[in-house]
Amino acid sequence: MGSRKVSTLDWQGKHVTVAGLGVSGISAARALAGLGASVTVVDGGDGEAHRARAAELAEQDITVRLGDAETLPEGTELVVTSPGWKPGSPLFKAAAAAGVDVVGDVEIAWLLRGTGGREAAPWLAVTGTNGKTTTTQMLASILKAAGLRTAAVGNIGTPIIDVVLGDEEYDVLAVELSSYQLHWAPSVRAHSAVVLNLAPDHLDWHGSMEAYAADKGRVYEGNTVACVYNVADPATENLVVEADVEEGCRAIGFTLGAPGPSMLGVVDGILVDRAFVQNRQKNAQELAEVEDIDPPAPHNIANALAAAALARAFGVPPRAVRDGLRDFRPDAHRISYVAEVDGVTYIDDSKATNTHAAEASLAAYEPIVWIAGGLAKGATFDELVQRSGERLRGAVLIGADRALIAEALARHAPEVPVVDLDRTDTGAMLAAVREAARLAEPGDTVLLAPACASMDMFANYNKRGDAFADAVRELAAESA
Ligand code: ADP
Repeated sequence: MGSRKVSTLDWQGKHVTVAGLGVSGISAARALAGLGASVTVVDGGDGEAHRARAAELAEQDITVRLGDAETLPEGTELVVTSPGWKPGSPLFKAAAAAGVDVVGDVEIAWLLRGTGGREAAPWLAVTGTNGKTTTTQMLASILKAAGLRTAAVGNIGTPIIDVVLGDEEYDVLAVELSSYQLHWAPSVRAHSAVVLNLAPDHLDWHGSMEAYAADKGRVYEGNTVACVYNVADPATENLVVEADVEEGCRAIGFTLGAPGPSMLGVVDGILVDRAFVQNRQKNAQELAEVEDIDPPAPHNIANALAAAALARAFGVPPRAVRDGLRDFRPDAHRISYVAEVDGVTYIDDSKATNTHAAEASLAAYEPIVWIAGGLAKGATFDELVQRSGERLRGAVLIGADRALIAEALARHAPEVPVVDLDRTDTGAMLAAVREAARLAEPGDTVLLAPACASMDMFANYNKRGDAFADAVRELAAESA
């Protein structure tokens, strides 16, 4: 896949095919049509919503082809894909056969930076298997506290192309990048970047762990100031070692322990910086207290250190790191407290859509009645159960791949009582919560940390978390 340097002028009359009529596809189509390209959007769907969107785009002379996601429109010179499309999709095979490049919306945003004569804001990039959104938002909060004009973009918020082409000016952007987006963004060169952690996820999309890691590692390519890695996860440091960076770019570690030189870490409940200080062999700079972080769970302290490292790499003063972390509140469904019913605490971590994330939240409570299951996305559960099994009072399993979890529990934690809920209807979550309540004793935590994607039963993880919270409220009403 080549990385073309496309200037604004090049778009005039260029035949671009956009794959996917979703939020990022529409944003790319409109932006490129606005720059004079001849745009066709293709999508396999052909429902009412698709047609309505197609009609809107037609007003901007954008062609939409519905019901065929596979064949390459005649004359296509560039394909712009939405992040979710698999690399092996027939459309991309057709593009490869025709010698046509395939890139993503993030690549387009990068190429369009500085359009209209404005200064192009540098990017501070965040990737990793888990903690991306939280860390990116923490980073934006810190940058704002430093008085910088910034936004959290990429995999979150306003489509990144719209931000780059919009009226608002930025000093710096906090950019969350998924492995998919990195895969399709060969030219992106961040000021500084972090890979928070690396655990098997989305292997069905990438094909292998190696391919997944390689796509994550792309985030370090061409960094100019700092490549931030997780000391506890040597795979992230390896990616830094392998990356081709600008002269003078530094490797900066973050650790929950005491930091060595060129690291950020924690000493006696204080976040300290031994990287961006004078004489780092001897000196350390206090940044914030663990208590400034919400919630102060270990994985979230790691996220805060990573955000702080990127901000410090950009020259943000210590005081702004503290203020930014104090101002930050996590999004919904990320270890969110729901209620206490009959002495049992109910926590919604619906966003724990893989085993690595579920392990982080299982580590934060004990004893736990665990509600898990859904779509495994090619994952196995043995390690998770081996590490977390002894914290479990019981488990309630839902969803398509629940047998995989049941088998891992039988192998590694046979004493844990398991309720296998063989139903996927809308009432299934209420049934799961009732079963969990039956297993729980006062002082326990019922934790929804599914370790799986939600789409077998719910539209998305938000809906799954909402269903859980609704069920808990119903339970509370009954017990009142
Ligand atoms: P992402 O954007 O990468 O999906 P989020 O910030 O939305 O990450 O957090 C997703 C889930 O991952 C959280 O609900 C929590 O369970 C878990 N998590 C967050 N940060 C970490 C981390 N640093 N390590 C492991 N798990 C984490």
